[in-house]
Amino acid sequence: MTRSAAPGTRLAPAPPALPAPASAPERCPLCASGRTALRFPARGGNVVEARAYACTSFGHRRHPPIWRCQACGLLFQEPRPSEAQLLAAYGDVEDPIYLAEKENRLLTFRRAARLLGEAAGRRLLDVGAYCGFFVEVARERGFDAEGIELSRWAAGQARARGLAVHNETIAERAARGARYDVVTMWDVVEHLADPRRDLELAARLLRPGGLLVLSTVDAGSRVARWLGPRWPWLMDMHLFYFDRRNLPALLESAGFRVLARRDYAHTVSAGYLLRKLEASFPALRWLARGLRPLVPSRLPIPVSLGDNMAIVAERR
Ligand SMILES: [Zn+2]
Repeated sequence: MTRSAAPGTRLAPAPPALPAPASAPERCPLCASGRTALRFPARGGNVVEARAYACTSFGHRRHPPIWRCQACGLLFQEPRPSEAQLLAAYGDVEDPIYLAEKENRLLTFRRAARLLGEAAGRRLLDVGAYCGFFVEVARERGFDAEGIELSRWAAGQARARGLAVHNETIAERAARGARYDVVTMWDVVEHLADPRRDLELAARLLRPGGLLVLSTVDAGSRVARWLGPRWPWLMDMHLFYFDRRNLPALLESAGFRVLARRDYAHTVSAGYLLRKLEASFPALRWLARGLRPLVPSRLPIPVSLGDNMAIVAERR
């Protein structure tokens, strides 16, 4: 999670800082419109470190300035970390809390896997496979599944369970000339330095007619709009916040035909949900603490507030 100092090393270097804040972005990184406005001012520190980039990060509502494009509705951080900073931070991520949530992640992924249809031996690549839980679910359903993952720790966890999870980027995978029938990206696109480029790479990894299935937070959802600055998914690690119009439009321009948009639910344990509730809404700490002794902490709870979406698209 943090850089651990090997014996004999000096103090770990300070985490790299973000570029100095721009007065205002010149244009929207998605549609290039010049009509952008500050939506949420910066909250929290100005550093890029692995702790903030773990899947189970509790750094809710800590982020650089977030802007809104008036033309396409995209919310985006600016300044954003450089790609090199992101690769270094994700490479260092360690996330033991995620392992403890394995059973619930499997429940989430088994439900998500229904979006893929029958396996029929199809080749599948899970991008951002983390500890390999979705690769495991896909294999149990009959897919010939493998994954790619930046975190050395997470890819190692997957490989230790006999799963093919490669510690490489989507560009490196595409450069190998690999081809798949299905590419999945669960809660990944909002983390990418360049979503358009990586979706184009996903298209290159798919045979024509192959499926891309992805999930992400929905900044246009009623819950997100109602909560405004209190929406818990405003986080350092989320660089882009799409909605149900601009993400399908991006997919169409990156070589896909969008087939379906769905709500996406995460199953979490009651104990984890209460911790998230407390971290996300400090004003409700009393409620979270009061409920904790009353609810079995391992109880699985599917959470769907309409602010997570799944999209199924076909490579043209
Ligand atoms: Zn835009």
